[in-house]
Amino acid sequence: MDNTTSASKWGSNPESTPRVSKREPIANSVLAGLPRVTYESLKSGLEAVKLKFGEILYEPGQVIGHVYFPSDSLVSLLTLVDHRSALEVGMVGREGMVGMALTLGSNVSPVRALVQGAGTALRMSAARFRKEFKRSPLLQRGLYTYLNALMAQITQTAACNRFHHVEGRLARWLLMTSDRVRSDKFELTQDFLSHMLGVRRVGVTEAASALQERKLIEYRRGRITILDHAGLEAASCACYALVKGMNDGKGKRALGAPAG
Ligand SMILES: [Zn+2]
Repeated sequence: MDNTTSASKWGSNPESTPRVSKREPIANSVLAGLPRVTYESLKSGLEAVKLKFGEILYEPGQVIGHVYFPSDSLVSLLTLVDHRSALEVGMVGREGMVGMALTLGSNVSPVRALVQGAGTALRMSAARFRKEFKRSPLLQRGLYTYLNALMAQITQTAACNRFHHVEGRLARWLLMTSDRVRSDKFELTQDFLSHMLGVRRVGVTEAASALQERKLIEYRRGRITILDHAGLEAASCACYALVKGMNDGKGKRALGAPAG
């Protein structure tokens, strides 16, 4: 293995340097969705940071010091059960922001925010964020749209964890990860996956083997490669398409609700 850490480190993305220069595209969708003039006014409060795998940004009940707009990093939102087990209830990549409680008037995180994919993010102090959020209706609109998608993801994940079988959930998780890191290759240990999916390691091994036998993924020494995206989508439980539809702004169609 070419990585030095014991667990996931997204290996294939060469763009690992912070990007804040004027002319470069904005990687984070929330920031990219703002009119350029609004983004420029936020810029002096944004700081490029590298997030390390396994880093905890906040614990449940902890005061939020900064919000994070992931560029190519990935953050898991975990809920703790009996102070021991952690279960993933959501994930945030370039489509969103970590620290969303601030948009609802709370300065305390309800979840553990754990860096699941190392990479870059832009962060802003909570104090500055509150000011910017209060004065910018466009920032509010962008973040409420994202909040709606995040809530859909969290509620769907809760139902998924309860009702869907491990193989379909693993496929969903791999696809969601791949979408956010924009790569079909990433590194991951079974221990880590077992926490993410809330199942025992043996369950993860069986599910990964089944997907591998169907030639949808290759899983070797902690490195996952998605071989067949469409096939993996077909193997995933329906939650993937539902949540992706919400993130793409196609929630109504994905959820089968009437138009209008
Ligand atoms: Zn599901």
